[in-house]
Formats: sequence, C-alpha cells, structure tokens
Amino acid sequence: MLIRWVRLLAITGMAVGAAAAALPGAIRAGEAPRAVPGAHPAAAEWQAASASPTVYGLRRFPYPYRAMLAISSDADSQTLRKFNLVHRFINTTQITPLGRGLGLDYADSFFVYTANDQPHIVDEIGRVPLQREFSYFRGTGRVPYGAKAIHAYIRDGWIDTMHTYGDFSQVNQQTTRFRRHLAAQAVTALKANRDFVDVWTDHGNRSNVDNFGARGRGRFYAYQQGDLPGSPYYHTDLTIPYGIRFVWPDISSNAFSRPSVVFPLRLTDGRRVWGFWRYTNERYTPQGAVVWNWTPYGLDEQLSEAHLARLEADGGFAVVAQHLCGTPYSGVLPKDAVAALERLAQHERAGRLLVARTSRLLHYNVTRDHLRYDVTHAFGRTYIHIRAVDDPVFGSHAPTLDEVRGVTFYTQNPRRTVLELGDRPVDPAMVVHNPSDGIHPSIGIRWFPKDTADHAIDVPGVS
Ligand SMILES: [Zn+2]
Repeated sequence: MLIRWVRLLAITGMAVGAAAAALPGAIRAGEAPRAVPGAHPAAAEWQAASASPTVYGLRRFPYPYRAMLAISSDADSQTLRKFNLVHRFINTTQITPLGRGLGLDYADSFFVYTANDQPHIVDEIGRVPLQREFSYFRGTGRVPYGAKAIHAYIRDGWIDTMHTYGDFSQVNQQTTRFRRHLAAQAVTALKANRDFVDVWTDHGNRSNVDNFGARGRGRFYAYQQGDLPGSPYYHTDLTIPYGIRFVWPDISSNAFSRPSVVFPLRLTDGRRVWGFWRYTNERYTPQGAVVWNWTPYGLDEQLSEAHLARLEADGGFAVVAQHLCGTPYSGVLPKDAVAALERLAQHERAGRLLVARTSRLLHYNVTRDHLRYDVTHAFGRTYIHIRAVDDPVFGSHAPTLDEVRGVTFYTQNPRRTVLELGDRPVDPAMVVHNPSDGIHPSIGIRWFPKDTADHAIDVPGVS
C-alpha cells in the first residue's frame, strides 16, 4: 500500500513523446504521462537524487531487428503436396528436397471452395487439375476436401489468411459461381470447427465477385460486391463478425518498404476493418499496367539485397505478395527463388530483419502505432505502464500479453526498469533486457518463440 502511494506521488512529467522525437531510432509514444496536479516542486529534486532510469520511447521493432517482413502467399494452384514441400523448407530446419530448412515464421492462405474452370494442371506429380487444387471443401459443395489439413495448419500456425471464399475465376469473367449462401455455409463450418483467421486477401479475376474493399477506387473495382448490401454476393455482414480484421483489397503497390502497412478501410456497408498494403510489382508497362512479380520467378527480384537493405535502413515493414505454390513443377520453387529465401533467412540470422507471419506483422504494426503507456518512478526504478491499444478501427482496449509481444522501449537502464500491463508487472520470463543498439539499451516483451516443428500432414485422397 505504501509503495503504491509513493509511486503515485513520484509520477513525473517526463515527456516520453518529446524525448523520443529527438532520436532517429525511436518513435513517439501515443501519449505523454499524466502530470500530478499540485505535485510538490521538491519532487523533481527527489527524482533526480533517486536516479531512476530515463525511458526514451518505443523502439520500432523487437531488439535487435531493424525491420519486419512477411511473405503473404495466395493459395492459387496449391496442392497439399506442394504446400508441405514449401513449408518444410521455409518453416522447419530439417533437410528437405529444396535444401536445409530455413526456420522462418511463414504462414499461408487457403481457399474454402474451388470453382475455377480453366484447364490447367497445377501439379505435375499426379497431374492434378486446377479443379482439385487444395481447398477446404470439394468444389462448391460441403464435402470436406482439405479441411482436415487446413484445420491443423490454422492451429499450428502454417495458415493465417483466407484467400477469399474460393477460387471462382472463370474463363468468361462476366460469369461467376459465387453466391452468398456459400459464404454462410463456410462461416458456419469454420466456426463449428474453430478455424479462425483474421486476415483476408482478395483473389483472382472479375468473376471473384466476393472480393471487397476497393469499390469506389475506380471503375475496374465495380466487380467487387462482397460488401455491397442487396447484392446476391454480399457477405461482409457474415465475414467481418466471423473475425476478419485485416483486408488486402486487390490493390497493387511497388513500394517495398513502408513505415506502416495498415490503413483504416471503410467498406461499402459501413463496416470498418484494417486495410493493408502488399508489395506486388516493381514495374509498370509503358501503358501503365502492373507487371506483377508475385510468382516464384519474381522472388529473386522481390527479395533482392537492395530491397532488404533498404527496408532495414528505413526501419520499415514489408508484406510481400506471392504465390509460392504457383508453379506445377515437382520442385515447386526455381533455384533463384530458393536462393532468395536463403538470402532472407540470412538477414534474419544476422539480427537485422525479423520475418513474421502476416497476421503477426499486422497486429504488431497496429499495436506499436497505437500503444498508450505512461511512465512512473519510485525508489530508483522506472515503471512503464502499458495502458491500452487505442485502435482507431476496432476500439481502444487493454491489450493481452500476446498482443504486446515484441513491444520494446529504450531505457537508460533495463535492470531498473519494470514493464507493467496496467499496474501489474509482466511475468519476468516474458521480459527481455537488451544492450545498446547504438542508440540506447532497451527492455521489451518477448517476441513469439520460434516454432520450427514439422507440422506437415498428409490426408488420404487429397492431392
Ligand atoms: Zn489468388
């Protein structure tokens, strides 16, 4: 009780935001700590004598990393065989046909249905036709196809994104096989099986009328009717309550590095979600058309040394759009794509670039940019109280520990700095103390532990 009282008395007006603004490596806090009305002038002297460490604001990324990158891969042409091959190479550290596993945190996307009528083979092993690509249900029915594997991968962290309700691309883009009842059936099944993801990426050509998020951005996007009330394709009244929080609305970008990749997005039906940017191309044709580089053949260009170095110098976020299962070949990834992924892993091993699954990157981006905290001092210690995430889209709330993983503060002395959620100290096992990175030492909440386990499963009857 006494300690609590002294700490309240000892609150100082140290302007966290202002101090941070002067530092190139630090970013502004959401709010400066409260001043104590009528605090005795002697309080300042008392604090100086006690020498509790100064907090200089938030570090952009968990120590020692300077930037964060996610690979956001669309489920097009996926088969379970190719999925497992790619994930064993990227996620585990075992010997795989593509080389020693890289141990990176990478999560994929999935389709619920398959209704594509194009005549392609998506996997030369077994000559799998496009109509049997990896999806939750078979065709547009409700007989499970890849559901068991998708369920396991969502649970185990190898899938975190819904690539729309399905592959509805048609040769004739004036037609579609999507209907609202398919969304309703999907949401019911996903909820019943507790298969929850909160990231959505739009897919495919204009037959994919369940796409949403870019209506109003231009005439091209009139095909998107997923958020259009009254349309036979309207579904966001089901999809957003199911749990989708982040939406990539079929918009291209040649910006590899961004200070933030999220933006508030208002849907046609008035609902609000976070939109996010993905890097999709480097170039445009002379006519201004996008030259997509989001296949394995473009990976070398996407993950070039110049891009990665620039991202780290900027202290930015990158979400790289891909279709890692996009080739039909037995090895799936060409040699230069494998080399590009190895280059990416090298940047992480060097402590420069944190590779994270898309959902984790997006959540971290929102938390970091809207974190509210204040700082108090007592008996030579400094207390950082994380109060809230003032999320401008989904509302202000007190965060859970998982939500603030990676949050890192510059401090004069980590050992005499205490991290608290509200007024309760964070479990010391979850707190990391870091030496100076050239700017200041820091204290942070531990990032997610590495998971390099082989989660691959085979399902009889699924290609
Ligand atoms: Zn797609």
